Amino acid sequence: MKPPKFSYLRPNSLQEALDMLAEYGDDAKIMSGGQSLIPLLNMRLSTPGYIIDIGRVEELKGIREEEDVIVIGGMTRHVDVEKSALVREKCPLLTEGITWVGHNQIRSRGTIGGSIAHADPSAELPCMLTALRGEIVIMSREEEITVSPEEFFLSYLLTSLEPNQLIKEIRFPKIKKGSGYAFEEVARRHGDFALVEVAAVVELEADGTIADAKIALGGANSVPFIPEAVEGFLIGKMPDDSILKEAATLQLGDLDPEGDIHGSKEYRRYLSGVLLERALYKAIARAREGVFV
Ligand SMILES: Cc1cc2nc3c(=O)[nH]c(=O)nc-3n(C[C@H](O)[C@H](O)[C@H](O)COP(=O)(O)OP(=O)(O)OC[C@H]3O[C@@H](n4cnc5c(N)ncnc54)[C@H](O)[C@@H]3O)c2cc1C
Repeated sequence: MKPPKFSYLRPNSLQEALDMLAEYGDDAKIMSGGQSLIPLLNMRLSTPGYIIDIGRVEELKGIREEEDVIVIGGMTRHVDVEKSALVREKCPLLTEGITWVGHNQIRSRGTIGGSIAHADPSAELPCMLTALRGEIVIMSREEEITVSPEEFFLSYLLTSLEPNQLIKEIRFPKIKKGSGYAFEEVARRHGDFALVEVAAVVELEADGTIADAKIALGGANSVPFIPEAVEGFLIGKMPDDSILKEAATLQLGDLDPEGDIHGSKEYRRYLSGVLLERALYKAIARAREGVFV
């Protein structure tokens, strides 16, 4: 299929992009890497009158460090995050999880902002951002606001973005010393979207009890899911096999995954428990080994 007719706009600066959004936003779509948008256009699931290609907007590209966060520009490609020494050192969960995003070719074109804006419930970046309790910085010509993933992801492929807004950057908290992390996923084939995925960061006290646990599941609900009861249950516990098994099954009833030809609802729910237990094991083992100190 070919896309419907549209006018192609290519701003050279952030200001120009914001001006175009202010003028055409209601009938426009931003294009970053085009890895999700172009298939949608070709299938005529999206029929905008204008495409605003932000590929030349340098202000939206790059990775930088602030005190407790790694800040990644919306137009930064997956491959640049995957290869970043700074990300590997300060937020290795991202380095681990991002290799699950499609294939090399997809990661060479696709962007962080595009993945977050597209809001596929099985996508890796929304899941990791939610586990890390990161933030999304959104800009329009009038204002700049910062929102949490819970405020941003509303439902399947639906976000709080208004037509005149774009994602400027995403703020990923660094992983603290004394913590371990893990990203676990099952997909039918390498490069496919996840059936289910789990991102976890666990911080241990000096005596080995759990000081903090931050977890998110992707593919298990219409938006990334934070199992708050599991996190609360783990804090203060000395982790062992029975504790982790109990934790992993505690909130399976709260999950409502979509069943399809790739996996039934029941299978995905079961898988969520398996992957959650695995992720907790791995994160705790890494924290104990001081892999990340
Ligand atoms: C074969 C294949 C396999 C894939 N597998 C996976 C996978 O396993 N996991 C995964 O997560 N993804 C996967 N993807 C999708 C890929 O990761 C895309 O890169 C990503 O979903 C969108 O990024 P993009 O830069 O290409 O965005 P685009 O396709 O350009 O845009 C996607 C949407 O986001 C909006 N948008 C883009 N940038 C911004 C911005 N800065 N501000 C506001 N709105 C914006 C667009 O208007 C559009 O609605 C796959 C894609 C393909 C083709």
